[in-house]
Amino acid sequence: MEHKGVWTIAEAHEGRLRTVSFELLARGRKLADDLGDELVSVLIGVIIPDEDLMELIHRGADRVITVSDEQLEDFIVETYSNVLCSLVRQRRPEIVLAAATFNGRTLLPHAAMRLHVGLTADCTGLAIDEKTHDLLQTRPAIGGNILATIKSPNHRPQMATVRPKSTRPLEKDLSRKGGIEHVLLREEWLDRRVRKLGVRVDKDEDVNIQEADIVVSGGRGMKKSENFILLHRLAKHLGGMVGASRDAVDRGWAKYPQQVGLSGKTVTPKLYIAVGISGSIQHLAGMKTSDIIVAVNNNEDAAIFQVADFGIVGDLFEVLPLLNEKLSREVRI
Ligand code: FAD
Repeated sequence: MEHKGVWTIAEAHEGRLRTVSFELLARGRKLADDLGDELVSVLIGVIIPDEDLMELIHRGADRVITVSDEQLEDFIVETYSNVLCSLVRQRRPEIVLAAATFNGRTLLPHAAMRLHVGLTADCTGLAIDEKTHDLLQTRPAIGGNILATIKSPNHRPQMATVRPKSTRPLEKDLSRKGGIEHVLLREEWLDRRVRKLGVRVDKDEDVNIQEADIVVSGGRGMKKSENFILLHRLAKHLGGMVGASRDAVDRGWAKYPQQVGLSGKTVTPKLYIAVGISGSIQHLAGMKTSDIIVAVNNNEDAAIFQVADFGIVGDLFEVLPLLNEKLSREVRI
């Protein structure tokens, strides 16, 4: 039986579908259309009502397959991988995509290894080769200095993970129709060797700049940790969160979950303000798709101005206090 169809792995948290599920569908829709195949959204986890699952159809899927059971509430990779590998062996999709989230980054390599297929992690671009129908998987390589395009011509399914926030979900189209298939969890899929004893959320890990509409980031130009207070004030006035360049994180001025860029997070806020950040290719990889970019830098040749919609050439220690003062006056009025 030949391999057909594009699958995207949906994710849910506390009974609600995560936005990454819809972002992946936007990627998958394009690939499925180019192949002339169907797009299937696969959800493994707790039970979600069909009305909610319909959003997957409205946002691009032709069909939804769920394996839902309260025993799947905790993400245990061995169990999830048993479920996924079993579905893949039985139904033979041509492409399987997951988000490069904690779950996706754990599940897909596990499944790829067991299925003896290739996997390209953290893709920024996906396309179909018109002649061979191979999946062209593009991702930054060698420190982000080149973009490598990778394909697996000899093995199916072709597997890739995609960075969250690197695509926008499609608009909801309520006229789209599609079926939802519920596959029963089989006892033999459950891996009893691993049990969750509890969850401890690290305070530092609790910062999720990817969800923020406004991100104010600081770089080496901030000079020292204490000066980040200027960024926190600005973020507070604007209702945003504080991010940072890797340089600032390496110096201990901000925490790793705040790092924006190739080896940090990708963000697509409505407004991204880069302060004292030069605009290295690795930093740009994490923020250049923001809606509006404002840069504050005292070097008018800084690369960040090439992607900025608004640039302020000036000393941040003059600009930020002025901005904060103005905003605090407006808030008081
Ligand atoms: P700099 O490049 O030193 O820039 C500081 C800027 O501040 C300068 O433009 C300067 O003009 C300006 N400035 C100084 N004083 C003032 C002032 N008083 N007022 C206004 N402006 C001022 N980097 C990331 O950010 N994220 C990543 O995820 C990341 N991943 C990487 C992965 C790899 C494999 C590698 C090799 C590198 C990675 N980097 C990453 C590092 C990246 O190459 C840069 O070194 C880093 O982004 C530089 O940080 P910066 O812009 O804060 O510092």
